Amino acid sequence: MAQSAKYVYFFGPQGTEGNAGMVNLLGGKGANLAEMAGHPDLRLPVPAGFTITTEVCTHFMKHNAQYPEGLKAQVAEALAKVEAAMGMKFGDAGNPLLVSCRSGARRSMPGMMETVLNVGLCSKTIPGLIKKTNNPRFVYDAYRRLIMMYSDVVMEKAEGIEPAEGQGIRQQLERLMEALKHKKGYEKDTDLTAEDLQTLCEQFKGKVREVLGKPFPDDPQEQLWGGIGAVFKSWNGKRAVSYRRIEGIPDEWGTACNVQSMVFGNMGDNSATGVAFSRNPATGENKFYGEWLPNAQGEDVVAGIRTPNPLNIATKSEQNKHLPSLEEAAPALYKELDDIRIRLEKHYHDMQDIEFTIQEGKLWMLQCRVGKRTGTAALNIAMDMLGEKLIDEATAVLRVAPKQLDELLHPIMDPAAEKKAKPIASGLPAGPGAACGQIVFTSDDAVAWAKQGKQVILVREETNPEDVEGMRAAEGILTARGGMTSHAALVARGWGKCCIVGAGTIKIDVAAGVMKIGDKIWKQGDEVTLNGTRGLVYEGRLPLIDATENPRLQEFMKLVEKFRELGVRTNADTPRDAKLAREFGAEGIGLFRTEHMFYGEGSDEPLFVLRKMILSKTTAERQKALDELFVFFKRDIKGTLEAMDGLPVTIRLLDPPLHEFVPQEEEKQAELAKAVGITVEQIQERARELHETNPMMGHRGVRLGISYPEVTAMQVRAIFEAAAELIKAGKKPRPEIMVPVTCDVKELDVTKAVVDQVHAEVERQFGAKIEYLYGTMIEIPRACLLADKMARTAQFFSFGTNDLTQMGFGFSRDDIGGFLPTYLEKRILMADPFQTIDQEGIGQLIEMAVSKGRAVRPDLKVGICGEQGGDPDSVEFCFRTGLNYVSCSPYRVPIARLAAAQSSIKSKRAK
Ligand code: ADP
Ligand code: MG
Ligand code: MG
Repeated sequence: MAQSAKYVYFFGPQGTEGNAGMVNLLGGKGANLAEMAGHPDLRLPVPAGFTITTEVCTHFMKHNAQYPEGLKAQVAEALAKVEAAMGMKFGDAGNPLLVSCRSGARRSMPGMMETVLNVGLCSKTIPGLIKKTNNPRFVYDAYRRLIMMYSDVVMEKAEGIEPAEGQGIRQQLERLMEALKHKKGYEKDTDLTAEDLQTLCEQFKGKVREVLGKPFPDDPQEQLWGGIGAVFKSWNGKRAVSYRRIEGIPDEWGTACNVQSMVFGNMGDNSATGVAFSRNPATGENKFYGEWLPNAQGEDVVAGIRTPNPLNIATKSEQNKHLPSLEEAAPALYKELDDIRIRLEKHYHDMQDIEFTIQEGKLWMLQCRVGKRTGTAALNIAMDMLGEKLIDEATAVLRVAPKQLDELLHPIMDPAAEKKAKPIASGLPAGPGAACGQIVFTSDDAVAWAKQGKQVILVREETNPEDVEGMRAAEGILTARGGMTSHAALVARGWGKCCIVGAGTIKIDVAAGVMKIGDKIWKQGDEVTLNGTRGLVYEGRLPLIDATENPRLQEFMKLVEKFRELGVRTNADTPRDAKLAREFGAEGIGLFRTEHMFYGEGSDEPLFVLRKMILSKTTAERQKALDELFVFFKRDIKGTLEAMDGLPVTIRLLDPPLHEFVPQEEEKQAELAKAVGITVEQIQERARELHETNPMMGHRGVRLGISYPEVTAMQVRAIFEAAAELIKAGKKPRPEIMVPVTCDVKELDVTKAVVDQVHAEVERQFGAKIEYLYGTMIEIPRACLLADKMARTAQFFSFGTNDLTQMGFGFSRDDIGGFLPTYLEKRILMADPFQTIDQEGIGQLIEMAVSKGRAVRPDLKVGICGEQGGDPDSVEFCFRTGLNYVSCSPYRVPIARLAAAQSSIKSKRAK
């Protein structure tokens, strides 16, 4: 018979087979147990055990809960090694070994999968263990825990039984235990005597049989394999599955199963169990931070049954300061643990999250892993460790996740205050940070109240472009409908504004000026607080803390710049945004949309003129309107070129949704009719003519300029005159003219003729030499296919990945709410392609366009200006694909800079 693959890896005081590098096979927990036990620099006290690989889990899932051949024998062999190492025997009547079955995937999924402790206790082994420990209370405590955990995890959850709320076997057993405590007048679990626990175990077994229709297994081997199977099945448990969806962890990975000798923290008052971080995971402060419980088993610390004790004097809090720390209760053990934390940090060069147990005065290490931390902690730990020479500069840059920077750029909720508060509603975390203020229900009120110096939260059913001003004025935005790519979400992120969308339980009655959640009512003017990072809404005004202007952050960003190669620009439509983005480190504007002047504050006049332009029937009429519009264009463009002096500004030619600009209200129509000198009926007729069935693919972008060259001429004249005036004033404007929605080079050529003519005229008129670039936005798949031709005329490409995704997928981005969630849930798509570039599909279009374009024009500048430009994965893709820059909203600029630097470091390390 062919030898089967290796499925089982032993770890222990001698002969450890795995190591920290084997995470994919052994899971994080297994790999680190092996490292702690076996690495010559560590050799920490780890109870012996073995890891069954993730490959067994994937086999198990594929083959209808069958194990690969040869596994049983390998487990038996490893178990014998464990028995030898511990000097005990599994299932032995006199000297029984107990084990735990612990889950552990490649990436840590804390609390999402199952673990069973005390496996091997049964009528045969109980008497022997009592005799050996002379501690019947401990033995029955361990047994009742086994019954509770095993019946819950193995007999109920793993069997797919879904009991009614509150009727889970574990809860039923807990009620039995509560009843006994009540009857005896006890307060704590530790008050239960050996006899109490023995009685309880008998009651538990009766209940298990009654509820689950099966006896609690009394055979150690049956318990062991039940535990192993349940660990593997917990990979597909509900919690684990939804966690993977959120974290983007592939279903195929599977979990490993660690079978490990039990050590006991519940053997009496010189036993204990605890969890600790080598540094504070919330603040990053370099202080050993943790919690422990005397006479308890691991699950008690996290379950929150008892208030855990603080680990040391330095980290005592209001809640636990009355309890003795380990440092005080057992100074020698604390010292030993503290030494271990320092060794672990030296070894792993990162903050560690550790689990330990003390059995009758002896310390055992049960787990270590890189600790999860907040953005603030990530930054502080990275900079501290750099200072301590634990890590180098490149590693420090890699230590802060780009998404975590968000936290550092916005005011955030005070975590202590949030812990105590209860949310009244929840939605999607669309814009990060926190905000509090008074509720208003209309954009106008938001503006008016803000003018009076009030802080407001704009609460809307959903938002549309007309709410822009109110959104700007509000501290935060809350909507009942909409998704992460809804208008409100997009805009809010762009401004770094706190925003929660799709909080479905909120019912809004604008007329009455109230919102309802359940049967509670909030009126206009009532205060709420939003946590946009988590999507939670709270009543009242909760304290915020300001996270910007952090000198640590500035130092860190300086480091980032040492490694970054990819350029980072911003999408900005106003001088104000341009300035802000410059402060955040933007190296230019990648997308300036002239349409901005038609929305929001001060838009009345230009919008009115634009409407006249749209409604004009003859070229002469249109020219008249264009002459008026020119003034606004030039003013806006000049302001932005000036704010970005010396840096490139990509100005996109008009791409307005024409129909949106025709007034719908009779009153406005009448006003316009009067101004243009036509009747209201004529206006309505013109509106009907402009109506398009599918405006997204209608008369927009370059097509407009092809029909009406005078529209293009007006815009480029505004650009060149603005530039000329700035040059005369001694500035260095760097305009780049970008033609939108092109699909053929002839569109570019026809437009270029207009540009050339105006350019020559303005240069002559001003006697100035005006440098500029001429390029196109790539938003249509055909433009990618013909990129070599496009590049003959275009000096640069900028991928408009919103439209490119829309046209490439055939998904209308305004309508994805109807089906995209289902696509994500069913795993047809792994991510929303409007948030992160679909590298597999749309990515090919981009790669093709880049290589075809550069083949014709080697110095072709290429960038991206879609929403995805600020998404770290997309930034990495752009770097790999050889783009010159990404462009994103101002608040995302630092995120993109960090993501770019990390891409450079990673690619160098891969070489
Ligand atoms: P999780 O991944 O949810 O943290 P673990 O497998 O780490 O689950 O188990 C939870 C707790 O159970 C551990 O923190 C530890 O306290 C306890 N535990 C697990 N295995 C053992 C063991 N062999 N001996 C003593 N305690 C254990
Ligand atoms: Mg753990
Ligand atoms: Mg577009």
